[in-house]
Amino acid sequence: MSIQPCRMVFHPDPILRAKAQPVEHFDDDLRTLTEEMIRLRKAHSGVGLAAPQVGHSVRMFICNTEEEGEEESIFINPEILEASGPLEWEEEGCLSLPEIRGSVRRPIFVRIKAFDLEGEPFELESDGLHARIWLHEFDHLEGTLILDRMRTLDRLSNRRALKELESMYAGGGH
Ligand code: ZN
Repeated sequence: MSIQPCRMVFHPDPILRAKAQPVEHFDDDLRTLTEEMIRLRKAHSGVGLAAPQVGHSVRMFICNTEEEGEEESIFINPEILEASGPLEWEEEGCLSLPEIRGSVRRPIFVRIKAFDLEGEPFELESDGLHARIWLHEFDHLEGTLILDRMRTLDRLSNRRALKELESMYAGGGH
């Protein structure tokens, strides 16, 4: 894959609806892609970003809530091992859906397995904000957006912003 320079991809770009392909090579391209994703996540003040959101349909995402001392977590070929506990509604946004927010219901506990940049497997679990971010980013690898999960009322209240995004895309904007 040719990486640089990456740019953000916005709804309704079809790449956001594709099922992303597994990462096969843990090489310099993957490292460059990761660096680009970190750069864009920070520039857009996000807490997570998935590769399809920067135009690469591969199974990886990054996460950093920017709490003190937190380092960037990089999840390559992630698997959700467990998503359980009570379901909780929480407001979410998405860097691919600027200006759009809505309540999304997700299980509060998540155990996830993934590979790091060296190809080493690791497992993490969370019952807090990280669990929600992991599920949100994992959704991106399956072609799912918060639009598909939010309440009908939230969809309605966001319809103007959605229309604007769609006309911008049709006009080749952004
Ligand atoms: Zn998102």
